[in-house]
Amino acid sequence: MVNADPRRLIPGTDTLLTRPHIQQAGSAVSPHVVRQIITDVQRAARAGTLPPAEVDSEVLTRLRELRPSTMRRVLNATGVVVHTNLGRAPLSASAQAALAEAAGYVDVEMDLESGRRAGRGEGARQALLDACPQAEDALIVNNGAAALALATAALVGGGEVVISRGELVEIGAGFRLPELIESTGARLRETGTTNRTHLSDYESALSRSSESTAAAVLKVHPSNYRITGFTSAVPIADLSALCRRYGLPLIVDIGSGLLTPDPVLPEEPDLASTLADGADLVIASGDKLLGGPQAGLLLGRASLISALSQHPLARAVRTDKLTLAALEGTLNGAETPVTAALHADPDALRRRAERMARALNAAVVPHDGRVGGGAGPGVPLPGWAVRLPQEAAVPLRAARPAVLTRLSGSWCLVDLRCVPEAEDDAVLKTVQSVLAALPHPGEEPSTRCT
Ligand SMILES: *Cc1c(COP(=O)(O)O)cnc(C)c1O
Repeated sequence: MVNADPRRLIPGTDTLLTRPHIQQAGSAVSPHVVRQIITDVQRAARAGTLPPAEVDSEVLTRLRELRPSTMRRVLNATGVVVHTNLGRAPLSASAQAALAEAAGYVDVEMDLESGRRAGRGEGARQALLDACPQAEDALIVNNGAAALALATAALVGGGEVVISRGELVEIGAGFRLPELIESTGARLRETGTTNRTHLSDYESALSRSSESTAAAVLKVHPSNYRITGFTSAVPIADLSALCRRYGLPLIVDIGSGLLTPDPVLPEEPDLASTLADGADLVIASGDKLLGGPQAGLLLGRASLISALSQHPLARAVRTDKLTLAALEGTLNGAETPVTAALHADPDALRRRAERMARALNAAVVPHDGRVGGGAGPGVPLPGWAVRLPQEAAVPLRAARPAVLTRLSGSWCLVDLRCVPEAEDDAVLKTVQSVLAALPHPGEEPSTRCT
């Protein structure tokens, strides 16, 4: 009794592992995860932060709180529609259903009628062609960058690709398009200047390609930045006519994946117009404005798509069945959450914000949403936000589900544009409990300077 070290009371690993309630709670997870939790809890008890008598229940609690993935659901109250750090486009209900169905065995590469092997992801390819009838054929790869790498590898090889100096861009997180292109062995033939490139620049680049190693012309949408003022770029139709004269393919990387023109984003290129204007191959992402899963879409001439499909790199950038299913579900389903958020009615956003603000005794302020994901830079999406003290931002982020807000000056703004209306109450409840835990619960900090 005298030297009773409480640490002796900590149950051993084998003891814990054989307890039926722990076995049951741990039955859905890998044994190494159960052991790790036990080790962590025992360590806490040895360090004195947990009474030995609570080891058993703590192990049980942690097992019950385990989720299949460490990724946590986030309610996006930032007003940024395609939020790169939140996984870009949230999937539509139809895409989610397709994804779940494809999780098991599926006929991704089989014709069930004949029992023979069939083209991979035929349904997704067909859905893409139906959505974009201007294209002769299509190929789906892992992402936009993979699509660009495959296109240059297959169509340019070790030759030259002509590109405007105004389009040698870096797109987020150090991803530089020129470096990606060069990594495939292709050489860049830069033409024009940063702010102005004329048809004659392309023409002289092509005619000065004396050893005629120019294999393609590439046009890239600069996506996340805009050069304004004294600028000039060559329209696709003019460039297409020039390429035809030289017998070279015109590749256009539009980035965002808009299917058809959108009046909300007048500057944003779209697949239909780019193909109709004469691009031979168009590249886009699946998870930006298209509102689908991460994917790289290649649409255009059948001969080019065929050359791409046969290139060895095509196998290295092949999409999985989950992506194919989700893409098909996106294209064939109802309006995507991305489209809904982009076109949200400001009056409806205001009503939702006011409802929430009344319950919180907070103010509603005008707030512009953003397109995000490198699309529509500088394009404001007029809307409203509930104004909270900035101290709310961190606990809201830590809540479950996490609520990500927009910090502006000394305020934390809750913009409901990208929150499904059915989740308004979830946001409200989370905000209420966060505010209640702040030093001045529910009170508008009116003494704070704005
Ligand atoms: C986003 C973007 C890419 C990269 O696409 P990912 O799908 O992110 O790989 C390439 N080009 C342009 C113009 C883009 O906007």
